[in-house]
Amino acid sequence: MKLSKIACAFGKHSVDTQSIRVKYGQQYGRCQRCATPLEDGGLNQWVPVALRDAGLDHRRLR
Ligand SMILES: [Zn+2]
Repeated sequence: MKLSKIACAFGKHSVDTQSIRVKYGQQYGRCQRCATPLEDGGLNQWVPVALRDAGLDHRRLR
C-alpha cells in the first residue's frame, strides 16, 4: 500500500520482528513494509542503516 510507504518516507519504519538478528551486539532488522535495513538506535527507535556503496557514499536509505 502506498499509504504505509508514506510513513516510511518520513522515517517511521515498522520493523519486522521476525527479521531481527543480532550482530556485533547490535540488533538489525528489516522494515516489514519497504524492506529497508534498520538498526536498533536505542530507546526503541529503529533507524535506517547507512549503506556505503561504491559511488554512493552519501546515500542513506530510508
Ligand atoms: Zn519502511
